[in-house]
Amino acid sequence: MQCWWPSFGRSSYPPNVFRFTKPIARDALAELLWRSGLTRPRRLDKLTIVTFHRVLPASARDEYPFPELAVTPEALDFFVGHFRRHYELTTLSRGWRTLVEQRATRPLLCMTFDDGQRDNDEFARPVLESNGCLATFFIATEAAENDAMLWHDRVGFAARALRERAPSRYAHEFPHGVAAALERAKTWPAARREAWVETIESTAGGSTRPSWDGLIDFDRLRALHAAGHEIGSHSCSHPTLPTCDDERLMRELEGSRERLRAEGLGQVHTLCYPNGDHDARVRAAASRAGYTLAVSTDWGLNTGNSDPFALQRCDIQVETTLSRLGGLSSARLGLRLSGLQPGLTGRAMAYS
Ligand SMILES: [Zn+2]
Repeated sequence: MQCWWPSFGRSSYPPNVFRFTKPIARDALAELLWRSGLTRPRRLDKLTIVTFHRVLPASARDEYPFPELAVTPEALDFFVGHFRRHYELTTLSRGWRTLVEQRATRPLLCMTFDDGQRDNDEFARPVLESNGCLATFFIATEAAENDAMLWHDRVGFAARALRERAPSRYAHEFPHGVAAALERAKTWPAARREAWVETIESTAGGSTRPSWDGLIDFDRLRALHAAGHEIGSHSCSHPTLPTCDDERLMRELEGSRERLRAEGLGQVHTLCYPNGDHDARVRAAASRAGYTLAVSTDWGLNTGNSDPFALQRCDIQVETTLSRLGGLSSARLGLRLSGLQPGLTGRAMAYS
């Protein structure tokens, strides 16, 4: 079967703001700003929300088609250690409340994990526990119920299989062509996108899911919640919410919240828009569905005056935190989270 694999040209994703800057100068600048204190968090009137997706051992991360969406447990331990030293770490609901009530005694930071991958429980939870800190996990309830791979992962794994089978035909599409195709496909109606994904999977010879992939189940979510972590909604089926009609939109938002509450996972105040996509209609629907906070994938920090239904986040990646010598660098991380690094406004993630 012929695979329709559109090439949309080079994507701007992932962002590479230092493309034209020599790594030595970049590291020196980060170190200078860090040592001078300019990029160390100090403000008590800001809420930093950081985004993680997968936490995978190095061998699995090497297999994962979107390594920029994954950190190793060792890297997560570095990030959590940095956050503990410089911030008060808390869940999203508590962090927002502390911010608006002006009760912060240290800079506030919330760690969020999108998509509810099983690896969050297997590899992130032990790191969080050993550091004594809490996080917020966003769950797509139907995907969790059915242990269903999210569509961008289905495309990624199938495309990876195609590349391995016919590198001369597909290798040039990695990684930018795949990212651009995903970016385009997320705007399509669900039925068209599903048909496209199925065609790619079929061309790749069927399911290409590795044994380590899977979504977290409700028993494990209850254990996370019982340990103090916050469980939030990521819709039911992870659609692009602005493309849903009114009925589907409310079903995705209300249905997911009701399911999480029925499973004993708390009052569920928080929502993460799938792919970060939202508009005024989606934000109003989120409020009607009973949420009080919703996060996007727009890069930035929040103040008490931020729109609680369009909270901004900072996605955390290993590659953008490495110094030129290959080690994870607090100075580079501090620069990215400071708001002083150029080029980090707008959408941080195209999908997820
Ligand atoms: Zn997602």
